[in-house]
Amino acid sequence: MALQEILARMRAAEALAGRAAGSAQLIAVSKVQPDARVRAVLLEGHRLFGENYVQEAAGKWPGFRAEFDAPPGSLRVHMIGPLQTNKAKQAMDVFDAIHTVDRASLAEKLAKLAQARGACPELFVQVNTGFEPQKAGVLPDALDDFIATCRKMDLGLAGLMCIPPEAEDSAPHFAMLAGMAARNGLTGLSMGMSGDFEAAIAAGATHVRVGSALFGARAYT
Ligand SMILES: *Cc1c(COP(=O)(O)O)cnc(C)c1O
Repeated sequence: MALQEILARMRAAEALAGRAAGSAQLIAVSKVQPDARVRAVLLEGHRLFGENYVQEAAGKWPGFRAEFDAPPGSLRVHMIGPLQTNKAKQAMDVFDAIHTVDRASLAEKLAKLAQARGACPELFVQVNTGFEPQKAGVLPDALDDFIATCRKMDLGLAGLMCIPPEAEDSAPHFAMLAGMAARNGLTGLSMGMSGDFEAAIAAGATHVRVGSALFGARAYT
């Protein structure tokens, strides 16, 4: 699907939900996509991207930033994959936001690094809304305590993120995430992917993460 078509579908979903145009942002998920496809989307003017791997992003984005980050700060890259604590420092150098804060040890590390550098990427707490044992994320019943812990560390939080179970209807998970964000005073909602971004926008998503619908299927090598 072309970039313009996805943006048009997003604007339609916003209108249908009675939301302001542009209140949901498109994160173009460029993990493992060939540089040529990413460049094509940059050339169309898109400036917000998502990556899953610190190493891959560290190799790919400095060059694209040098070429496309005008005016400075307009090009943003968000980390949407699991983050190892020992990669937190590098992640802070590479990313403008991290959507996968999911444990106290990582929060502590990020808080220390943020204090040392006097700046911090935007942070989202990943929530395991489906209670899936193999999936990352704070469990819903532990979330309020986790958020309080982050706040005690002076870690500013932008919002919540979820990846609903593959075999289930996403809508109840999106609604659950929106409710948890509201009750914790958080406005950011990172939810919705290629197959369900319109449902996510209907439920209040501020960031949808769309990969394959935009770039085509990923070829893992
Ligand atoms: C890969 C990925 C996406 C994009 O998935 P598509 O189905 O290709 O749109 C979104 N969110 C996360 C966390 C991902 O890892």
